[in-house]
Amino acid sequence: MPAAVNWIVLLGVFGCLVGPLDGSAGDVDPLYRNCVDRCEKTSHVGEIDLQSCRFSPHNVSTNGSWYARESLYLHWNQWSCRSDCRYYCMIRREKEREELGFAPVKYHGKWPFIRVSIFQEPVSSLFSVLNLIMHFHGWLSFFLLVCYKLPLKPLSKRTYYEYTGLWHIYGFVAMNAWFWSFIFHSRDSDLTEKLDYSSAVAFLGFSLILSIMRTFNIKDEASRVMVSAPLLAFLTTHILYLNFYQLDYGLNMKVCVGIGISQLFLWAVWAGITHHPSKFKLWTVVFGGGLAMFLEIYDFPPYGGYVDAHSLWHATTIPLTYLWWSFVKDDASFRTSLLTKKTK
Ligand SMILES: [Zn+2]
Repeated sequence: MPAAVNWIVLLGVFGCLVGPLDGSAGDVDPLYRNCVDRCEKTSHVGEIDLQSCRFSPHNVSTNGSWYARESLYLHWNQWSCRSDCRYYCMIRREKEREELGFAPVKYHGKWPFIRVSIFQEPVSSLFSVLNLIMHFHGWLSFFLLVCYKLPLKPLSKRTYYEYTGLWHIYGFVAMNAWFWSFIFHSRDSDLTEKLDYSSAVAFLGFSLILSIMRTFNIKDEASRVMVSAPLLAFLTTHILYLNFYQLDYGLNMKVCVGIGISQLFLWAVWAGITHHPSKFKLWTVVFGGGLAMFLEIYDFPPYGGYVDAHSLWHATTIPLTYLWWSFVKDDASFRTSLLTKKTK
C-alpha cells in the first residue's frame, strides 16, 4: 500500500466495518432464538443457572428488595441477563453444531468467542490495551523530546517544531479510540458500540486533518482554521447522526472509507516527493499496514475460541504504532534542526 498511515486508516475503517449486530447465520437459527427466549424467562440454559436473570423483568416481584426494583439496577440486570443468555446459548449451539461437523458461524455480527472472566473477546481487549499503552508511550516520549530535549525558542519558550500541538491532540484522540475499543471488545452493548464507532471516526478524521497539515506544510493559524473547520463540522455532524439519529452502518462505512482513502492518497504523494531522513520508517509502516489489511480481509473464525483475524490485526498495529511515533519524533528532530540552523 503506497501510504504511511494505512494502519491508522485501517483502525477507523474496520472500526466502521463491524456491521449490523443482527441477522448473522447464528442468530437467525430458530434453535438459538428459542434457547435465548427460554433462558430469559427461566434463567436456565441446560444445567447452567444464570444469576443475572434472577432479577430480570420476567422474574422480579413487586414486593422484592428495594435494589431489585431500582430502575438502573434492573436495567443493568436485564442487559447482562440478555448478554449471558446469548453467550451460553451460543456456546451450546456451537457445541451441537461441532458434533454434527459444521463450521462456526457468526452470532449478532460476531464470531463465537470464549469469555475469560468478564471479557467477551479477551484477545482483542488485551491487544487494544497494548495499543493504548503503545500510544501513551509514544506520546510521552514525544512530549519529553520536544519539551525537554530539543531546543526551545528563546523568547516564547515554545517548540520549533510546528506540529507539536497537533500531535498532542492526535495522541489523545488515539488513546481515546483504543480505550473504547478495549471497552467494546470487553463488553458489547449499544452504548459501548456507539462510543467505539464515534471514537474511531474521531481518530480517523483527526488523522486526516493532521495529514493535510503535515503534507501541505500548513503552519499559520488562519489557514489551519480554514482547512480544519469544515472537516470538524462534518465529523461532528456525522458522529451526532450516528449517535442520535441512526446508526447507519452502510453510510458510516462510506464515510470512513472516504476519509481513509483521502489521507492514504495524501501520505502516498508526500512519501513519493519528500526527502525525509526517516522515510524507511514510513515504508515499514506502509508494508506492515498492507499485510495487516490482508489479515482483516481474510476473516476467519477464532482459533481455539480466542484468536480471530480481527484480534491478529489489532496485534499488528502494536509494533506499527511504535514505529509511527518513532517517525513522528524523527520528524520533530529533523524540523527542529532545520529551523535552528536557519536561525543561526
Ligand atoms: Zn477491534
